[in-house]
Amino acid sequence: MESLDLSGRKGLIVGIANDLSLATAAARRLRGAGAELAITYLNDKAKPFVAPIASALAAPIFLPCDVSVPGQLEAVFEAIRSQWGRLDFLFHSIAFAPKGDLQGRLTDCSAEGFAQAMLISCHSLIRMCHLAEPLMDQGGSVITLSYYGAEKVVDHYNLMGPVKAALESSVRYLAHELGEKRIRVNAISAGAVKTRAASGIAHFDELLDESAKAAPLHRLVDPDDVGRVALTLISDYGAALTGDVVYVDGGLHIEGMVLPSRPARA
Ligand code: NAD
Repeated sequence: MESLDLSGRKGLIVGIANDLSLATAAARRLRGAGAELAITYLNDKAKPFVAPIASALAAPIFLPCDVSVPGQLEAVFEAIRSQWGRLDFLFHSIAFAPKGDLQGRLTDCSAEGFAQAMLISCHSLIRMCHLAEPLMDQGGSVITLSYYGAEKVVDHYNLMGPVKAALESSVRYLAHELGEKRIRVNAISAGAVKTRAASGIAHFDELLDESAKAAPLHRLVDPDDVGRVALTLISDYGAALTGDVVYVDGGLHIEGMVLPSRPARA
């Protein structure tokens, strides 16, 4: 019988906010396959939502991690180094942009908002790879989360489009640089899912409706669709995959999509 067995593997999951988070679904699948998980939460406000999930997953490492707070990400990797001495995989599932900038035109976004979105949503992946590299001395797998708005204009995705484009390009460069250490780096480009982060995007319900209509599979993606692909990529079944953007979107990316709320052109 074929099986995906991650017994003995150790991984860091960054990006669980609540039960609906894409990172929660991935963590459940990875734990179900036998992996041990280190889990982080954003801050004290988020902790009560993440703690029961971490406890159900029997996470031996559970620490705060706001990547914009100096030293917090480094402290997480230090805990991993001292407790485990190594790391096999890393699931980066975080994004942020200030609401004012996210909900306006890219043309009008502030330098501060753009920089903050890039630091939290993109540069944090680079920092995590930098910190993970010495711990992944037997090879490793890194996954980040992207969206179709990286490559085509999706109404209302605005500033996150160029941020995710930079993220996907970073995946290719990181994969190129870390390949000789057998560290694989991939992005999952997920279809629209109603999560906390998604609620910051204007007209998101319309995006969900249109996505379900336009996708060849005529359905929305659910977090576990992403979880199962994450498990496959991290396991040895993904051993030859690196530098890729893997679409988990019901095929939507082959179709393109126009939202009904798109303002008419004069
Ligand atoms: P979510 O709100 O559950 O997760 C977003 C996470 O980002 C939260 O856990 C939050 O704490 C974390 N975060 C924000 N700022 C942070 C900071 N400064 N430091 C550390 N963590 C921070 O939403 P989600 O949809 O599961 O988002 C996960 C990833 O998936 C994001 O990169 C998002 O862009 C991507 N994605 C989401 C969708 C979707 O439709 N939901 C589609 C494609 C890609």
